[in-house]
Amino acid sequence: MKTANIPATNQQFTIGKIVCLARNYAEHARELGNETPAAPVLFMKPASSVIGDGETVRIPAYSQECHYEVELAVLIGKQCRAVSADNAMDCVAGYGTAIDMTLRDVQNALKAKGLPWEIAKGFDSACPLSDFVPASAVADPHNLQLLLSVNGVKRQDGCSSDMINRLPQIIAHISAIFTLEPGDVILTGTPAGVGQVVAGDVMEAEIEGVARLTIKVQ
Ligand code: MG
Repeated sequence: MKTANIPATNQQFTIGKIVCLARNYAEHARELGNETPAAPVLFMKPASSVIGDGETVRIPAYSQECHYEVELAVLIGKQCRAVSADNAMDCVAGYGTAIDMTLRDVQNALKAKGLPWEIAKGFDSACPLSDFVPASAVADPHNLQLLLSVNGVKRQDGCSSDMINRLPQIIAHISAIFTLEPGDVILTGTPAGVGQVVAGDVMEAEIEGVARLTIKVQ
């Protein structure tokens, strides 16, 4: 069982489902040659894909191209189903830093065949996830700097203000499809600058004022 922790309030949640947005930053959609979607593009990672700060991403043997994507993670603290955008933020328990590890070669092959992405996005160690800060500690989740470096070289430097769909709309949209429960996590998409990591690399991801993550690659 994987847990999501909020050390400041001594809260611990068993992680349920991890619902992820694709193409939620226009510049990142463009860098991969994708259209900017009208509605959020969703996929899921299993809780078993989570690893914590200091742990190691293990690239599966069936991929030759593993990419990092730094993302703002939203921890759900109370059950919500078809919640309105106006009430959606009441369901948020905290914020954290995640890396949506993606086997880009595998994903591209699946996309070309119209097949689902799970084996490119949900493998063991595909979801490095920090501890969370309480929602009340973040003044504006739409004004957070997202940074990722590989071996000390900055690769991603974006701001959550550039999200296409914002948190109230995201939570309202998701909760109309999947009931959100305490311990569920939403990954809100990545800004531009994604790229490959290989065995031996070290990633440092940070959302300023939220959390840092140091993750090795093997
Ligand atoms: Mg992503």
